[in-house]
Amino acid sequence: MENAKKRRRFKKSYIILIIFIIVLAASVAFVQFTSLGHRMTVPYRNFTELRNHVFVANDYSGDLDNVISILDESMTRVSDFWGNTESSPIIIICDNDKTLKKLGGDHDTTSVVIFKAYSYISISSQYLSVDVVAHEMTHAELHTRIYDGKLPQKLVPTWFDEGVASQNDYRTKYNDEAWSAATNNGLDIIDLNEIDTAPEFYSGTASDRVYRYIVSRHEVKEWIGRNGIDGLIELLSKVNSGDNFDQLYSKK
Ligand SMILES: [Zn+2]
Repeated sequence: MENAKKRRRFKKSYIILIIFIIVLAASVAFVQFTSLGHRMTVPYRNFTELRNHVFVANDYSGDLDNVISILDESMTRVSDFWGNTESSPIIIICDNDKTLKKLGGDHDTTSVVIFKAYSYISISSQYLSVDVVAHEMTHAELHTRIYDGKLPQKLVPTWFDEGVASQNDYRTKYNDEAWSAATNNGLDIIDLNEIDTAPEFYSGTASDRVYRYIVSRHEVKEWIGRNGIDGLIELLSKVNSGDNFDQLYSKK
């Protein structure tokens, strides 16, 4: 009797140990082998916190005053656009190719939802400009407004995500003149349903993608022209509350 009890207790401890090892191995694999895991653990890697939420690789040789001034100007542009900001993305500045590979990008935003939305922006010197940083910060703000408190899921199409982010990206290759040239003054526009997923939006050549940014930026700009920023904020809030994006967007 006593032996059977001991065996059961041993078996239980054994199972708990196996589960612990599996969880530990999965966590190590996540942190070491995924770009999101790498971004989330930047504070514990070879990075220095330049200021709150801004981490610069220890081997970064760029001008840190320039980094700060670009971040400040980008933040001002993004705040002016939204009125106020709710997001506080982690910004990672790095030029080391090997590290950038582990981070999974040199000018992009990765967001994750763990009850709240957390965004991680990776930027290399090549893309360190107000246009690119403001573009990425706008993604972070959009993601926070949509995904806070939600389960991980896709709630808005990719063209909309990029279209909103491009509102604060003033590069001429995406502007209204570029739109006129790329779409034959609006006569030749791709069906947005064809670029509503990430694989669709980012596929093909660089010029394919530029065309999609141009079309998305213009589409969202026109929508904001009709509905205002308040209309955009209201739409995001309703999507966050569970309403369907397509229905809300197409009604206005
Ligand atoms: Zn973008």
